[in-house]
Amino acid sequence: MDRSVEKKEHGGFFVTDIRDLVARRKSEQRRIKILLDARRSEDQAKLKGGEDAVAWVKEEQCIGCDQCTIVCDDDAIELYDTPLASPILNIEVNRKAKILRDPCTGCQLCVLACPTDAILMIDR
Ligand code: SF4
Ligand code: SF4
Repeated sequence: MDRSVEKKEHGGFFVTDIRDLVARRKSEQRRIKILLDARRSEDQAKLKGGEDAVAWVKEEQCIGCDQCTIVCDDDAIELYDTPLASPILNIEVNRKAKILRDPCTGCQLCVLACPTDAILMIDR
């Protein structure tokens, strides 16, 4: 895969062109899907899935990394901002994933993509 990114000088800084970012995201989406497809049949057999199941996010385990939204073909996951649990930390953006029940098809891809095992498949 070609990971080269064109950077243009802007105000003395080199910034990544938005088209390159979009292309990188699509490329990353393809890469993740290929990896997942390889793991999928084996892991999928152990998971609940299909039309009687829906994904569910354990909020405390979600780190807002966006991997689940990349692999979801059905636009069934949204990220939302939430305050940090600890007032000691000063981080501008703290995001969590939320599953939209109606568009979720129970395909399980998000479960396989999540790096923190924050997503479960539950009965619909
Ligand atoms: S189970 Fe499939 S359709 Fe449902 S949220 Fe996960 S990736 Fe999207
Ligand atoms: S992949 Fe997992 S940790 Fe990342 S945003 Fe989705 S639910 Fe949260």
